[in-house]
Amino acid sequence: NHILKNKRALITGGSRGIGAAIVKRLASEGADVAFTYTSSPDRANEIVQAVQALGVQALAIHADSADAREVVAAVEDTVNKLGSIDILVNNAGVLAIGPIDDFTLADFDRTFAINVRAVFVATQAAVKHMKEGGRIINIGSTNAERMPFAGGGVYAMSKSALQGLVQGLSRDLGPRGITINNVQPGPIATDMNPSEGEFAEILKKQIAVARYGTVDEVAGLVAYLAGPESGYITGANLMIDGGFSA
Ligand code: NDP
Repeated sequence: NHILKNKRALITGGSRGIGAAIVKRLASEGADVAFTYTSSPDRANEIVQAVQALGVQALAIHADSADAREVVAAVEDTVNKLGSIDILVNNAGVLAIGPIDDFTLADFDRTFAINVRAVFVATQAAVKHMKEGGRIINIGSTNAERMPFAGGGVYAMSKSALQGLVQGLSRDLGPRGITINNVQPGPIATDMNPSEGEFAEILKKQIAVARYGTVDEVAGLVAYLAGPESGYITGANLMIDGGFSA
């Protein structure tokens, strides 16, 4: 019952948080996995060890999603070392929050380079190699559709941009038997969004199930989308937000 046996996956931003859970989950389903990281080499190494213990190949690639050349190189590295690429998970993302009067153009550009441009660049590089049955999964956000507090406009816009991208690219890739979807999490307990504290308590009031989600809950949905049963889902924006946007 290893549904991803003989599949090769690349996950961007796999050293911590949601990305690390996805790396481990796809590996536990039998996939060989490569993942990128930037500033957490020790965490990346721990993930490699954990994955190798599952008996599949693991490859940690230092690549900054802000740099398109490094993104393309990460895809090529995956193809060269694992043999090809069947699954791409665009997970790396940054959250820059600030009021409209102070928000810098540097934060705007960095948000778009990592959350939007890198997704397009990695997708373009990966589909050169992907065969029928290929899977592209982006980690968007429930904030693409609902941003109930100030200061998050640019982040929300970056995640809304992914909706247009997957809807459009589903038309390019559908005839090739490749699906592309957005997974849109609500508040998930990670370094980016800790589940305790003042801000967390405000968020919890907006969540129908009144709790944060776990990285493993998101990884489970990604594993399903990466697998053979999800072939009729494409161009979709799938909420996994405990009813945050309901
Ligand atoms: P974390 O900040 O906890 O982890 C981010 C991961 O991405 C780390 O592995 C980090 O690697 C990597 N990363 C960050 N910047 C870059 C970069 N420039 N190049 C390559 N890798 C990078 O975030 P989460 O796990 O919480 O978030 C993951 C995704 O989920 C993001 O796209 C985020 O927007 C989205 N999301 C998160 C939600 C949440 O509540 N947590 C809700 C909705 C969406 P390293 O440490 O090695 O630099």
